[in-house]
Amino acid sequence: MRIDNDVKLDFNDVLIRPKRSTLTSRKNVDLERTFVFMHSGRKWTGVPVAASNMDTTGTFEMAHALAGHRMITALHKHYSIAELKEFFAGFDQPDYVAYSLGIRDEDFEKLAAVLDAGLGGHFNFIVLDVPNAYLERFIGKVEELRNLCPQHTIIAGNCVTNEITEEILLRGADIVKVGIGSGSACTTRRMTGVGYPQLSAIIECADAAHGISDPATGVGLVMSDGGAVYPSDAAKAFCGGTDFLMSGQFFSGFSQSGGELVEKDGKKFKEYYGMSSHAAMKSHYGGVARHRASEGREVLLPYKGNVHDFIYELFGSLRSTATYIGALKLKEFSKRTTFLLVNNQLNRSLEKYE
Ligand code: 5GP
Repeated sequence: MRIDNDVKLDFNDVLIRPKRSTLTSRKNVDLERTFVFMHSGRKWTGVPVAASNMDTTGTFEMAHALAGHRMITALHKHYSIAELKEFFAGFDQPDYVAYSLGIRDEDFEKLAAVLDAGLGGHFNFIVLDVPNAYLERFIGKVEELRNLCPQHTIIAGNCVTNEITEEILLRGADIVKVGIGSGSACTTRRMTGVGYPQLSAIIECADAAHGISDPATGVGLVMSDGGAVYPSDAAKAFCGGTDFLMSGQFFSGFSQSGGELVEKDGKKFKEYYGMSSHAAMKSHYGGVARHRASEGREVLLPYKGNVHDFIYELFGSLRSTATYIGALKLKEFSKRTTFLLVNNQLNRSLEKYE
C-alpha cells in the first residue's frame, strides 16, 4: 500500500486568477481551434466541445443542432445501421460527428458492417470507449482500430494518468479521453472507490499527451470527459490544458436530448441516465448481468427547452472568462492561467430564494 500525498483537484477546488487584459470586447474572443491530428493527419477547425455518446445526449437531433455551431456529437452506439444510413443521408458534416464503439467483438463487427455499407466517409471521428482503459485488451483494440481505420481521427479512453495516456496515443489514438468517476450520472466512485479528481486528471494527462509530438503529424491531444456542471467548469477544463471537452450533463434535458419527456404535476421533465445504469442496461441488454453492479444514475431533470440557448450561454461564459484572463483565443486559456486553491467557491446566500 502507498499513499500519494499530493492533493488532487476537482473543478470546485479552484478559481482562476484575473489577469491584465487588452481585450476590448468579448465578441473578439475566438472559441474555435484548429488541430492537425497526429495519426489521421486530418486538419479540424471548430469549437472543441462534444456531446457524450450516451443514449440521452449522443442523438441525431443533437448532431444537427451542434454541427451548426461547429461542435461535435458523439453518437451513442445503439443506433442500428439502417438508422445510421437514414441519418447520414441528410447530414453532411463529417467533421462534427463521431461514431462510437466499445471493445466487444460485436462492436467491431458492427463497425465493419458500417464501413461495408459505405458510411465511413460520413464521420471523421471514432470514439473507442470503455469505462476503464487500463485493461490490456483495450490497448490492443486501439491498435486494431487504427489499422482498420487509418484515416479516421480516433478518440480513445477513459483514463486519468500519464503513463496510459502516452500508451494509448502511441498505439494509434489521436485524442485520449480523460475521466474516471467524474460523470454526473456515474456512481463508479461510490460503488468501487476508484477515481481521480477531474482537473488534476486533465493537467496530468494533457502534460503527457502534449509531450508526444511529431513535427510532421502534430501533437497528442486530450478530451476531458465528465464532471463539468457549470460553464465555469468548461473554462477551468480548458485552463487546465484540455484540448477538447466532452459533456453529458451540459447536453441533457433539452428537446434535442434523448430520454423520455415526462409530465408531472404540470411540469415537464426529461430522463437522463448513465450508460451503465439499470435503465440503460435493461433497454440494451435486457438487464444488469449477475456479475456486474450498476454504476450509473437515473434521474429526471427539469426540461430545459432548446439546446441552442444553452450553447449561447456557454459561449458567452467562455468569452467572459477570456476577457478576465486576457486571452484572445481559447488556445491561450491555459497559458494565461493561474489557479487559486480555494476553500469556498461561491456566495450562496441567496440560493434559497431562487
Ligand atoms: P457528465 O458530463 O454528465 O458529468 O458526464 C458524462 C460522462 O459520464 C460520459 O461521457 C461518460 O464518460 C460517463 N458516463 C456515462 N454513463 C455512465 C455510467 O453509467 N457510469 C459511469 N461510471 N460513467 C458514465
